[in-house]
Amino acid sequence: MHEPADGEGSLLRAEISLDALRHNVRHLLARADGAEPVGVVKADAYGHGALDVARVLREEGVVRLAVATLAEAVALRETGVDAWLLVLAAPLPGQLGAYVRHGLAVTVSSPDVAEAIAETAREVGPLVAHVKVDTGMHRLGLAPDAAPAVVRALQATPGVEVEALWTHLATADTADPAFVQTQATRFQAVVDALGDDAPPLVHVENGPAFVRGLLTEAWGDRRRLVRLGGVLYGLASAPSLVPDLAGLRPVMRLVTRVVHLQTVAAGEAVSYGQTWRAEAPTRIATLAAGYADGLPRALQQGGEVGIRGGLHPVVGRVCMDMLMTSLGAPDGPGAAVRVGDEAVLWGSGGPSAEAQASHAGTLSYELTSGLTARVPRVPVSR
Ligand SMILES: *Cc1c(COP(=O)(O)O)cnc(C)c1O
Repeated sequence: MHEPADGEGSLLRAEISLDALRHNVRHLLARADGAEPVGVVKADAYGHGALDVARVLREEGVVRLAVATLAEAVALRETGVDAWLLVLAAPLPGQLGAYVRHGLAVTVSSPDVAEAIAETAREVGPLVAHVKVDTGMHRLGLAPDAAPAVVRALQATPGVEVEALWTHLATADTADPAFVQTQATRFQAVVDALGDDAPPLVHVENGPAFVRGLLTEAWGDRRRLVRLGGVLYGLASAPSLVPDLAGLRPVMRLVTRVVHLQTVAAGEAVSYGQTWRAEAPTRIATLAAGYADGLPRALQQGGEVGIRGGLHPVVGRVCMDMLMTSLGAPDGPGAAVRVGDEAVLWGSGGPSAEAQASHAGTLSYELTSGLTARVPRVPVSR
């Protein structure tokens, strides 16, 4: 574990435990209670690598996937992923031909988009439509009172298959998720208004709503899909959610190496702008990781690094390619640290991604999805 890295690869790497991912999928499926999962693999599977994740999901029986953007969907298709694939974004009319060509389910985000879909189905080819209702998130979707007419108009359009009705929750991961019920009630009214014309699939829950069991509606005899994102990767999007993830394992571990050690004298400052100053002689370790790898500069206030089983504070500004951590007094417990030692930014041996995120004033999703192309994703079995 403490051997120096060899070879020419990056010292910083994101280890991706496909075993942990497999475990999480099985754990979640065991609690599905009739619901069918949609694996959300947007943003390169929250930074974990969408191709490997999609492969494991398929092996575990998750046959439906969702991504955020058309470009992400096309990239998956071009690497051979032929799964059922929903694009969550609002399409622009000029993009709809690509949905036909790549066999993608399209989000009906407004009456104008519905019209463009009907036109594309007539002129280009068949489309699978998921009509989105804005029940209170106010990001995308049709007003609840406008949705039934749009569903019926699309159902009457040759070449359009209205496969699903869906909405997105605004507060499922918060300490007080009461607004989830308001959204569910508004959504139920649309399902009721459609009666027998309601599409065969319905999806409302995201990962947080699912693991917390916030929704018990059955939506008549419609098939209930659940859109699972962060929970697949063992990530909690908010501190209040951490207990609900018991039983899930973090999939990513971000680890680098100590590349330099020194003792700075009392009164000396570390890094750009001299924002941190040693009060006493202090052992400083320099690590190979910086903001160009996607680490937030905000880690200078409270960020921690795991080295040889101890947690050490980030000191001074995070640089583009390096950051510094204090090992404490030169003769203290940090004295055993050597150049080449592993330094864990999050995951086993360091802080959790959630703890590191809260030190930086953000959420774990932003940490993992923010890692840049410079960081190799390395599958490990563990
Ligand atoms: C990202 C996303 C999800 C997944 O959310 P998690 O909190 O990661 O489970 C579900 N639905 C939509 C519309 C999304 O954008």
